[in-house]
Formats: sequence, structure tokens, C-alpha cells
Amino acid sequence: MDVKNNIKEFEKKLSGTGCRLVAVSKTKPNALILNAYEGGFKDFGENKIQDLVVKHEALPKDIRWHMIGHLQRNKVKYIADFVYLIHAVDSLKLLKEINKQGVKADRIIPCLLQVHIASESTKFGLNEDELFYLIERPEFEEMHNIQIKGLMGMATNTMDKNQVRTEFRYLKSLFDRLKDAYRSPRLDMKELSMGMSGDYEIAIEEGATIVRIGSAIFGERNYQAR
Ligand SMILES: *Cc1c(COP(=O)(O)O)cnc(C)c1O
Repeated sequence: MDVKNNIKEFEKKLSGTGCRLVAVSKTKPNALILNAYEGGFKDFGENKIQDLVVKHEALPKDIRWHMIGHLQRNKVKYIADFVYLIHAVDSLKLLKEINKQGVKADRIIPCLLQVHIASESTKFGLNEDELFYLIERPEFEEMHNIQIKGLMGMATNTMDKNQVRTEFRYLKSLFDRLKDAYRSPRLDMKELSMGMSGDYEIAIEEGATIVRIGSAIFGERNYQAR
């Protein structure tokens, strides 16, 4: 795979859209990540803490690591001092733990709240009520070592483009509501992380500011061979 070139092509497609690329390097070797890095690219996404830690240790320290996968509370401590953006916060309990580790690491950890927008029940995330409930908790205001930078969502894995578009549009509407109606130092609503290799074009049309692209850059993943 010519990863460096694939990223250049994506950046061309994204230029002028207001949308940035996170290259999802999960299951892929460091050599491929370095190939992209040497081309000047720095935003990479992983979905497992263990892989994120190992890659962070082995690779250049100015890489911006995005944690895009479901996060277990007891593992937050391993990434708290370096993670650039946590995309998949889906509970107040998890947010509290991230805040606690942020205190220890003496930094404010940028987070996105993950909203469940797909029809599949297997995808993680808050529903609309849970999202607003979380934002309105008094404890939310007390968490000085996190900041919510926006929302993240994954659309249904389907050929039905209208359904995907409807789901992204719904996420954008929640983003706009939060942005317009809530004032809090804990909220800095700038990012809408939606769109992957199969549906990023629709996501960009619907207002994504971050697309998370894996296989279209790094090639298909082979989980069995891991
Ligand atoms: C794997 C993954 C991606 C990238 O998926 P591709 O279809 O390979 O582009 C994006 N977001 C999340 C949360 C993922 O786990």
C-alpha cells in the first residue's frame, strides 16, 4: 500500500470542505504509519488501548493519537498523558474517570461524546436523552480536566445511502442543539467526527469536521492474522 500517496489523495478531496482526516491505523504495522508520517501526516486513530500505548512508545512523539474505539474505564490511565482526542465517550462514569486521570496527568483531556445513531444495536453510544442528561448533570460542570470538543457517531453499515444520510443529519442536528443551547466551560463544540471509508462522502456533505478513514488508506484489515 502506498499509504503516503493515499493520504495525499484524501487530503486533496478534503481541501476546502472544512473537514480533517484521521487515518485509522488499527491492526497496521508501524512501518506503514511511519510512511505516512514521513509525508508530513500526524493524525492517527486506534481503537485498542494496548495498541495505542505500544505504537505511541515506538513512534515519533509528535504524532496526534486519536482513541476512536470503545474505552474501558480501568485502562484510561495508560493513555491519559498523551492521547490527543478521545472520540468515543459514552457514559458519565467514563468521563469521570477520564477527568480523574486528567487531574493526575495535569492536563485537560479533549473528548467527543459518542452518540448511537445506527440501527444496529451493537454500536456503542449515548441516545439523545442520555446525551442531554449527561450535559445537564451538576457533576459535569465539576470536571475541570476534560473538555467536550464535539460529537462522534457511526452510521449503520448498509448500502442504503438515504439511511446513512439521515443518521448523519440527525447527529449534526444534535451537535447544533448542543452548540447553540448550552454555555459551559466544559463544552467547546467544534468537532463532528463522522464518516469512514464507506460513507465519508455523505458525512462531509452533512457537516463532518473529522472523517476516520482506515481501509481506504491502509488496505483491508485481516483480523485473523493478528
Ligand atoms: C475501524 C474504524 C474506522 C475506520 O473504518 P474503515 O471502514 O476501515 O475506514 C472508523 N471509526 C471507527 C470507530 C473504527 O473502529
